[in-house]
Amino acid sequence: MAYDPNNVFAKILRGEIPCKTVHEDEHTLAFHDINPRAPVHVVVIPKGPYVSMEDFTRTASDAEIAALFRAVRTVAELTGVSGPGWRMLANVGANGGQEVPHLHIHVFGGRPLGPMLAK
Ligand code: AMP
Repeated sequence: MAYDPNNVFAKILRGEIPCKTVHEDEHTLAFHDINPRAPVHVVVIPKGPYVSMEDFTRTASDAEIAALFRAVRTVAELTGVSGPGWRMLANVGANGGQEVPHLHIHVFGGRPLGPMLAK
């Protein structure tokens, strides 16, 4: 799938719509989800134009890939969930339930999160 520069996270990266930033570095931005599913729900994205985990891990630089995963850990620490525990989730494509076509890793925490998936 070609990258759509009009997706909502691309607009956030360009500063066209606001976000509540949790963490930012050279390669990543993390912000509070607008519709939180848990007391802590942060979205971590690469700044580059990647649709999903597939094209990201195929074409991004090692520095970008390392930065994204380090940013996830930083967000867990900054939001206070790293002690009690937390969950990371990346939806990919239609069956994965991906709504925004810019790679993002959700960080959830702040309460027991229950089973991984509904059966
Ligand atoms: P996904 O279903 O994995 O693609 O998740 C997309 C997420 O983006 C959802 O949890 C939305 O609530 C969130 N979202 C959509 N628009 C915004 C926005 N403007 N700011 C923050 N989060 C957003």
